[in-house]
Amino acid sequence: MRPIEFGVMRSGFVPVPREVLLDAGAIEPTAEEREQAERDAAQSRKRQAEREQRLEAARRALAEISDPLTRAILDLHAEDERHECAGDDFDGYESERPDWPCRTVEVVAAHHGIGLPS
Ligand SMILES: [Zn+2]
Repeated sequence: MRPIEFGVMRSGFVPVPREVLLDAGAIEPTAEEREQAERDAAQSRKRQAEREQRLEAARRALAEISDPLTRAILDLHAEDERHECAGDDFDGYESERPDWPCRTVEVVAAHHGIGLPS
């Protein structure tokens, strides 16, 4: 048995996937890996921008609904500054608010034919 240092038993060799080492910055990526990472990041930014555009269109469409009951439901389930539902969807001390749009807003949007990003 090897000596124990700071409560951790030393082991000889632990296989670590290359992706983990790259993510941790422990090794330098190859030129090909660097290019792939840049393409992945650009694609991710594009998807996020498209999602935000669709969400903004849905926000505008939802804001135009004037039916009193729907308005009351949407006002209760408003989006807060952290993009979470400020409504009554959460319960209990350790529960977390759902992201906005919550399931209630999704139902209202679907009822009014308003598309939401997935
Ligand atoms: Zn809600």
